[in-house]
Amino acid sequence: MTALGLHALGVPSASATATALAFSALGGACAAFLSVHRGTAKLEASSRFLAQRMVATSGVARREAESSERERRLAEALAEQGRLLEQRLRERAVLFDVLRETVMSHDLGSVLGTLARRLAETLRCREVAVLLRQDDGTLTVRAGHGFANPAAVVGRSLRLGEGLTGSAAATAQTTVVHDVAQNPDYLAFWGEVEREGSFLTAPILFQGAPIGMLALTRPASDPLTDVEIRYVEALANQVALAIRNAELFAELEALSTHDPLTGLSNRRHFAQRAEQAIAEAHRYHHPLSLLAIDIDHFKMLNDRCGHPAGDAVLVEVGRVLTSHVRATDTVARTGGEEFVVLLSHTDAAEAALVAEKLRHGVAAIAMPAVQGQPLGRLSISTGVSTLGDDDDVARLVGAADRALYDAKRLGRDRVSLSPPAP
Ligand code: GH3
Ligand code: MG
Ligand code: MG
Repeated sequence: MTALGLHALGVPSASATATALAFSALGGACAAFLSVHRGTAKLEASSRFLAQRMVATSGVARREAESSERERRLAEALAEQGRLLEQRLRERAVLFDVLRETVMSHDLGSVLGTLARRLAETLRCREVAVLLRQDDGTLTVRAGHGFANPAAVVGRSLRLGEGLTGSAAATAQTTVVHDVAQNPDYLAFWGEVEREGSFLTAPILFQGAPIGMLALTRPASDPLTDVEIRYVEALANQVALAIRNAELFAELEALSTHDPLTGLSNRRHFAQRAEQAIAEAHRYHHPLSLLAIDIDHFKMLNDRCGHPAGDAVLVEVGRVLTSHVRATDTVARTGGEEFVVLLSHTDAAEAALVAEKLRHGVAAIAMPAVQGQPLGRLSISTGVSTLGDDDDVARLVGAADRALYDAKRLGRDRVSLSPPAP
């Protein structure tokens, strides 16, 4: 094609051939060049393609890595949510039991007992104690779980600032000791538990103020985790309302059955107790006696020293009467300066002895107000009655009142026995 072209342009044929050859060689070179060029281009294209592929591949790998990282983070977040949910559920389960106890029984003792027991089960505690703050600021153990000798712990008190729990209560902070063996402030519940493992004490906060403390121990083989510590803190706050409710109910109940001045049973409560005790005495043929007590010349004491001094004497008389009888006997304030004592399992002769003991106890009261009384001391008159076969509360009380009247009539400061039933 090229030679023909040159020939057509008038180029001589020999040289045309050479030229043609030359051109042919050039053409070949060109072709070769073009071919090399094409090869290079191909190479470039392939390497571009490869590079693109590599970029694309690394993008996929990166995206895959990113997505598995995201998945890992999601799985972790999910697991954490699961843990929190489980923790909330455990917390709700304990709380539910405690609230149910408040509704079912209104009894503070059972509410706190349930709290201690359920907390011990849920957190695998060795010992759990629930302490409530008293009016004077001391903390008293009101319920316990896991103690070998509960009587040595329940009912005992701590001053604010005393031991780890007293100190934690003073600052309303949680205290955790992971190894109590190393902590000299740990009281080990007055030496009643092992000095081993971990200890946690958390405030029970009601409207921001500590109304009590939750204290628990765990063996060294099972240390407390941060999540569990937070769980106890959250629970301590949640149960505060249930505890406060039960406390208010107990206060209300005490107000309806007890005399606010002396704390003794009131007339209504005494009547209930007397009904029960009389029914039992009749059924099991136990003796039962009643003392009707009246303070002598009490108006005179009030007139000389004033009503508040008279009140203080009434409180002291109540304390003396209670301290001289058994815990199972009922001491009640039935009127202004009038008291009754219900003595179960007590016949007339024993009741007369108890009455004498009480008379001496009251005579020993050494308050300034009593010195101006006719005898230079306080005195009481007492009527004693003992349950007969057909007696009910009214007859037992009536007989004691008549005997008391006799004691007054005979000169006061004495004990009179009602005549035995015919
Ligand atoms: P008696 O030896 O005959 O029993 O004489 P009394 O003065 O003790 O008896 P009286 O019934 O004349 O007076 C009882 C007094 O008790 C009258 C009242 O001032 C007083 N009193 C009643 N309730 C209270 C109270 O809650 N507090 C105080 N401080 N005094 C009371
Ligand atoms: Mg009197
Ligand atoms: Mg009287």
